[in-house]
Amino acid sequence: MRNYNFSAGPSMLPEPVLKQVQSELLDYSKTGMSVMEMSHRSKPYEAINAEAESLLRELMAIPDNYDVIFVQGGASTQFEAVPLNISVNKKADYVVTGNFSKKAFSEAQKYGDMVKAASSEDKNFTYIPKLDRKTFRPDADYVHICYNNTIFGTRYASVPDTGSIPLVADLSSCILSQEIDVGKFGVIYAGAQKNVGPAGVTIVIVRKDLQDKADRLCPTMLKWSTQIKEHSLYNTPPAFSTYVSMLVFRWLKNLGGVKAIQEINEAKAKMLYDFIDSSDFYNNYVECEYRSLMNVPFVTPSAETDSEFVAEAAKEGLLTLKGHRLVGGMRASIYNAMPVEGIEKLIAFMKKFEKNHK
Ligand SMILES: *Cc1c(COP(=O)(O)O)cnc(C)c1O
Repeated sequence: MRNYNFSAGPSMLPEPVLKQVQSELLDYSKTGMSVMEMSHRSKPYEAINAEAESLLRELMAIPDNYDVIFVQGGASTQFEAVPLNISVNKKADYVVTGNFSKKAFSEAQKYGDMVKAASSEDKNFTYIPKLDRKTFRPDADYVHICYNNTIFGTRYASVPDTGSIPLVADLSSCILSQEIDVGKFGVIYAGAQKNVGPAGVTIVIVRKDLQDKADRLCPTMLKWSTQIKEHSLYNTPPAFSTYVSMLVFRWLKNLGGVKAIQEINEAKAKMLYDFIDSSDFYNNYVECEYRSLMNVPFVTPSAETDSEFVAEAAKEGLLTLKGHRLVGGMRASIYNAMPVEGIEKLIAFMKKFEKNHK
């Protein structure tokens, strides 16, 4: 039996995708081998690599003046790849809205005059600061944001206006969950293991005018142009992760694409937030406007009942609901692959738990 896994990442994958992986595991498309065992220079793998890119382009409506690469190292490696690739003047502005943007900022500080242009740390990251063009230094090489804050459960209500300064965004925990205008960004990156596929592959989307600015000392493997030139096949790629991600893209396309999943995600999140708001037992501290569609942190009246909640929920097949240590309480991560039934079951459990613990 499959449980409902509310983990922030790695997280649930769509069941039809897992079944297809299972059916193809020993013999992929009459090759007599698994994708895991296949040369990345073979025709069948080249087809997987190409289909992954074209489906992602289609799903996100990525304009032609952007390249898409699949790389290794996770989103965390991009924290350093970003300044090494595009910080020509060694000057960039960071918006700190949580743990990951803080890490991105601290890594980038090694490479130049990087400043914190705005932050929501004063209220423990429960909101997104108001930003406009005046927030940023006009000669900054780029502005970096984290669009959805996985740990604190916030997200931007809209894409900030940075004028002519390229906007770089970490979309690890919200890519493909809602429609987004890629044309407003200079660079987008995202680890796969939240909304896309298995850990091991990281998506980087780079506007063409930002591709030849890498620092002389930027490692070859971190230089985006290295993989762009080779269509992500410069060296051995994370082939199995890319293959499963490609199947997730197909699944999403069959479902109606990002617009369709966004409607489902909004309905799922609304059910959960509405229930939390209607209860005087559960609380979510995020300012309503900035509530994440993907990660929903909440607490009960005490740390003790929080622990009981997590333990009792697990007994009913509602797993990994413990909140991040920086926030405490619980967190339900409800990415694309979490079915509506998972939310319904969680809410039913929350009602029962509240009755027994009030
Ligand atoms: C999970 C996460 C990361 C870290 O990703 P890794 O692939 O583990 O390096 C970075 N940013 C955000 C927003 C995340 O959710």
